Amino acid sequence: MIESSTPCPLCHGGTKQPGTTTFTVDLGFGVVVVRQVPALVCDLCGTDWIEDDTAATLEEIVAQARLKHPELEVVRWGDQDHTVANQET
Ligand SMILES: [Zn+2]
Repeated sequence: MIESSTPCPLCHGGTKQPGTTTFTVDLGFGVVVVRQVPALVCDLCGTDWIEDDTAATLEEIVAQARLKHPELEVVRWGDQDHTVANQET
């Protein structure tokens, strides 16, 4: 369960709310953008926190995108290769 009332440690005025964020990584030769990534987002300052499981999946998405050597690759969370999402045993 995600706690919905965790205070934001940065602005001390907002709370972390379940939401989505856009994750961008610059690979040097190009940029990979992953949209609609589940994250906790501060409702005041907008800072986002990506959980470990989500970050691990992001790494997989970026690793796959890297193989294409794109100038710009935009992936929507959930649209990634299904092998990424089916790793739980
Ligand atoms: Zn905040």
